[in-house]
Amino acid sequence: MTEELCPTRSDDDLIMISALQHYSYCPRQYALIHQEQTFDENLYTLRGRAVHKQVDEPEHEVAQGVRVERALSLWSYRLGLTGRADVVEFHGATPYPVEYKHGPRRQREHDDLQLCAQALCLEEMTGQDVPEGAIFHHSSRRRRVVRFTPALREQVAQTVTAIRQMAAAPILPPAVNDARCTHCSLQNACLPSVVSATTRQQSVRATLFVTEQA
Ligand code: SF4
Repeated sequence: MTEELCPTRSDDDLIMISALQHYSYCPRQYALIHQEQTFDENLYTLRGRAVHKQVDEPEHEVAQGVRVERALSLWSYRLGLTGRADVVEFHGATPYPVEYKHGPRRQREHDDLQLCAQALCLEEMTGQDVPEGAIFHHSSRRRRVVRFTPALREQVAQTVTAIRQMAAAPILPPAVNDARCTHCSLQNACLPSVVSATTRQQSVRATLFVTEQA
C-alpha cells in the first residue's frame, strides 16, 4: 500500500466516508455538516467520541497471528472517497474492517453503508477481495458481522452519486421530522418541527385558491 493523494481528483472532489453515513441517516444532516459546516454535540455524539478514543491513534500490533491496524487512512480513486477505519484486521492478506459504535448490538443501515465504503477502499488499496467486516457495539461488547453484498455495494455507489449531485447544486433538504431527529445532535440548528410546519404552511398557501377542474 502506498499513501498518496488521488491524482485524478481535487481535494474538493473527495467525499468523506463519514458523509455517506450522514447522508444515509438524513440528507439534511449531511448538508448541515458537510455543506454548511454545522456541528453540535449531544449525548450520543459524546458517547461515540469516547468510544472512538480507543482507536484514534494510528498504531499496529500482531495478536494471535492477525495483524491489527488502528486509525488506518483509506481512499478510493474510483469512487473519490477518503476517510479512516477504526480497525482493520489482516487475516492473511485479506483485510477485515471493524467499526466501533457506541450503544447495544443492533442493525443500522447507515452503519453498514459506512463499513462497506471502507471495504471498497480496502479492496482498491490492497487488490484483495473484502467479503465482510464487523460493527463492534461498545455497550454490549459484541460484534455484528456485515456481509458486503452486491446490493450494499451498489447502495454505496448510489449514495456517492447522490452526494455529488447535491454538492453540485447545494440545497438544504427538508427536515425529516421523525424518530431520527430524537437522536440527532443538530436539532437546535435544524429545528425540524418548525421547518416542517413552515413547509406545510407554504404547501397549503400554494394550493389555497386552486380550483378542481371538472
Ligand atoms: S434534526 Fe432531524 S431533520 Fe434535522 S438534521 Fe437531524 S435528523 Fe435530519
